[in-house]
Amino acid sequence: MERLQKVIAHSGVASRRKAEQLIIEGKVKVNGNVVKELGTKVSSSDKVEVNGVQIERENKVYYLLYKPRGVISAVTDDKGRKVVTDFFPEIEERIYPVGRLDYDTSGLLLLTNDGEFANLLMHPSNQIEKTYVARLKGVPPKFKIRELEKGIKLEDGMTAPAKVKVLSIDKKQGKSIAEITIHEGRNRQVRRMFEAIGFPVQKLKRERFAFLTLHGLNAGEGRELTPHEVKQLR
Ligand code: URA
Repeated sequence: MERLQKVIAHSGVASRRKAEQLIIEGKVKVNGNVVKELGTKVSSSDKVEVNGVQIERENKVYYLLYKPRGVISAVTDDKGRKVVTDFFPEIEERIYPVGRLDYDTSGLLLLTNDGEFANLLMHPSNQIEKTYVARLKGVPPKFKIRELEKGIKLEDGMTAPAKVKVLSIDKKQGKSIAEITIHEGRNRQVRRMFEAIGFPVQKLKRERFAFLTLHGLNAGEGRELTPHEVKQLR
């Protein structure tokens, strides 16, 4: 559900201010009935008319991107760096990323123009699992991994218990690869968690978001989610 004035503004027929004015003046109908209440919420299936003309609602679209490293999780960048929407040049809808991956992190990122859907996925109560593969400087011993599994104190509080697996160890090079699954989404959380046990992340990739993976995609490639996938995520 979205606020009526926002829906009108997004359709391009009026600015947000003007849309509010039109509502107050009784020029807006929802499903055939005049609505004068600002902030009335409408769903994507509601028919909205302004001055007797039905507005065009933007289609809701859902994409998955294999974000490469060195790309900003935003729709614009004032320093002119590459942003995630640059990978969807042919899409007319105003999509934006659902949450963020760091500039240096690669991996699975969702993009949509459906605010309700984005909020739902980002809400902490939703507990969506995200799996990352991290290359670590050093080889963490079991008891250090255990600390992450129990939950570790960061400057913004304790983390929830994580699932962690050390996938490979390179003693000679002093490196290891670990897989970690968390369901929170704090800023630079995975990097801070490994930093907290003394094994900094050198490279980070998000491999999974809920049941979605990067299967079949190369870095920089994306695909539309299927309606079934969108439904399952809701
Ligand atoms: N955790 C991080 O540290 N970075 C990301 O980009 C995502 C999760």
